[in-house]
Amino acid sequence: MNERTLRESVADCARLLHARGWVANHDGNVTARVSNERFLATPTALSKARVTGDNLLVVDARGEKIAGAAKPFGEVGLHMTVYRHRADVRAVVHAHPPCASALACAGSRLLERPFMPEAVVSLGATIPTVPLAPPGAAACDALAPFVVQADAVLLQNHGVLSWGDDVEQAYLRMELVEHLAKIALEAERVGGVKALPDSVLSSLLEARRKAGLGLAQKPAPRVVACAPPPTDAPVEIVTPRPEVAVQQLESVIREEIVRALSKK
Ligand SMILES: [Zn+2]
Repeated sequence: MNERTLRESVADCARLLHARGWVANHDGNVTARVSNERFLATPTALSKARVTGDNLLVVDARGEKIAGAAKPFGEVGLHMTVYRHRADVRAVVHAHPPCASALACAGSRLLERPFMPEAVVSLGATIPTVPLAPPGAAACDALAPFVVQADAVLLQNHGVLSWGDDVEQAYLRMELVEHLAKIALEAERVGGVKALPDSVLSSLLEARRKAGLGLAQKPAPRVVACAPPPTDAPVEIVTPRPEVAVQQLESVIREEIVRALSKK
């Protein structure tokens, strides 16, 4: 992809974040890697509705401006932390989608343990929460350990950061995190989500590895259920019959592999 096309891709993503109501005021930011020393970045102090391919900045690997009229955004260090630890990543997206941000602000861990198979193939074994830290170097240090184990994170008391091998994939991962957050919050009204059993999780992670989708492979700590049961009764994990589970897995894996190959 040439730089002009990449500029349009970053600007399209920024406007989409605004159109979907995932940012307000000057919130949110998008970057894309042109080379290891050259990154496109949305400008600070501008609504994402007004981002165009022409008003993007070019920054270096430290987030310092190389070209462009505006200043780099304050959270650019978080993006650079992702690029530094993940050579496979070519785009990073940050926004405050309401449901996922609500979980981040409430300190909820509902997304840490997967409860839907498709999400494991797309996002890996966990969507962790990065602990709150002051902006700048401390926030980057807090994020770094999570970058190798995940493709999207909640930022405590803040929002969501996602990344991928192009702008579209980083955006779609943000979309998936918000969708999962909505489902998890709805599920709370009917007893809470039930985590996928380890046997299903390991098959999905193997499929993800074979499809070459991201580096995020490390399983999350075992959590029996993501919400406390309504009574003192033990939580029951419903494990699908093996033949049904295998059929579901095959279907998910086929779709994800076709999707991955069609992008190459
Ligand atoms: Zn933010």
